Amino acid sequence: MGGPTSQSILVVGGGMSGMTAAIEAAEAGYEVYLVERNPYLGGRVAQLNQYFPKLCPPYCGLEINFRRIKQNPKIKVLTLAEVESITGQEGDFDVSVVVTPRYVNEKCTCCGKCAEATTIEIDNPFNYGMDKIKAAYLPHDMAYPMRYVLDPALVQSPEAQKVKEACPYDAIELDMQPQKVELKVGAIVWATGWNPYDASKLDTYGFGTYPDVITNVMMERMAAWNGPTQGKIVRPSNGEIPKTIAFIQCAGSRDENHLPYCSGICCLASMKQATYVLEQIPDAKIYIFFIDIRAKDRYEDFYNKVKENENIIFYKGKVAKIEKADDSDKLVLRVENTMTEELNEIPVDLVVLATGMEPSTASQPLPIPVAYDDYQFLPGIDVQPGIYAAGCVRMPTNVAEVVQDGTAAAIKAIQSIVRR
Ligand SMILES: Cc1cc2nc3c(=O)[nH]c(=O)nc-3n(C[C@H](O)[C@H](O)[C@H](O)COP(=O)(O)OP(=O)(O)OC[C@H]3O[C@@H](n4cnc5c(N)ncnc54)[C@H](O)[C@@H]3O)c2cc1C
Ligand code: SF4
Ligand code: SF4
Repeated sequence: MGGPTSQSILVVGGGMSGMTAAIEAAEAGYEVYLVERNPYLGGRVAQLNQYFPKLCPPYCGLEINFRRIKQNPKIKVLTLAEVESITGQEGDFDVSVVVTPRYVNEKCTCCGKCAEATTIEIDNPFNYGMDKIKAAYLPHDMAYPMRYVLDPALVQSPEAQKVKEACPYDAIELDMQPQKVELKVGAIVWATGWNPYDASKLDTYGFGTYPDVITNVMMERMAAWNGPTQGKIVRPSNGEIPKTIAFIQCAGSRDENHLPYCSGICCLASMKQATYVLEQIPDAKIYIFFIDIRAKDRYEDFYNKVKENENIIFYKGKVAKIEKADDSDKLVLRVENTMTEELNEIPVDLVVLATGMEPSTASQPLPIPVAYDDYQFLPGIDVQPGIYAAGCVRMPTNVAEVVQDGTAAAIKAIQSIVRR
């Protein structure tokens, strides 16, 4: 006991785990700062098309959380924000947060006039660069906060003034500067989630060389109504409907050269995506190449249901190489059938690499020294006294589990404050 204390809680990362931690702590009466790097909340879940196992749209769950955040004056949301430094100890942390300018203030009504006024386009980060958007943009149709963003490329361009003048609500501030926000908090929840493993490191699969080799997160966007093809599953090379689709499981996972662990989720994600394909292309032929399938507990029913579909071939074998066919525009997969030990060449129209989840801390560790496990995940909920981890930053898993984890971390943070 003793020394200055703060009753506030800082939550870093506004995905499902961080939003849950923030809401639970605020609804228990604590003041919460929720710091999110993106211009919107929701994390990677906002980029999914549907959730397994029920296959409902992610907005159902997200909307409820956004409403609870909006209605709760105890939660202060900082978007486009990152934690620069943390000093102090449990009960008494000083935190420095840097907020990058959005160049658009709260007067924005999302009328879209600024986007009409600019000719500058950027790769769309929400769709993993599969399409372009105007450099004045709403990050996605259901974004929270529902407010436009101006890309620095536009702000620094000769078009900036014209775009500002096009705004009927005086919402554009071209002279917005990065801001430093100093916070005093008693406890911290770190919930910065995961990044998709970089498929360009899988050099035999041709990602980046062959446009028809995509990743599972790209498939989520392609199948989504607000995605780059408005939900239509196509071959990126020519816009045609793929008739044969291959899902490659463990693409870079359970491999000492890449991610040595199992992400636990990508088998189910591919099965879910196979159902997206068959909804649109009922006569499509789908291969799922696997080492073994991970679908535990209640998800096993989903696996069993998918397995019954005769258009989906579960093929036990490791794809060694993907190449372009000599005599057509197809891709050819060279694969060894583990059951028969035969080497096969299988032509397909579209390949989906089921890449795994890498903790965000692998590329961006906490700004103070803490322990990580062998794979750079935070090793447990208790990181150090007063700092707690939640969600995929500590283990690759599904939404239901990260929500529980967010709640657990909020309780730990509250206990830490109460203890002081
Ligand atoms: C292909 C695929 C499909 C999936 N489909 C499903 C499904 O159908 N059902 C299901 O239950 N699960 C699914 N998942 C898993 C699901 O995406 C995760 O469980 C979920 O995203 C975890 O939420 P999170 O909050 O822990 O992390 P994230 O969603 O990654 O959120 C973390 C947040 O932290 C922010 N952040 C990161 N670094 C910083 C920083 N330094 N400072 C501030 N903010 C930061 C990020 O911008 C992000 O908003 C799927 C996963 C994959 C790979
Ligand atoms: S910044 Fe102005 S012009 Fe752009 S969407 Fe918002 S209100 Fe409309
Ligand atoms: S969940 Fe499936 S695809 Fe993903 S790493 Fe584990 S076994 Fe491989």
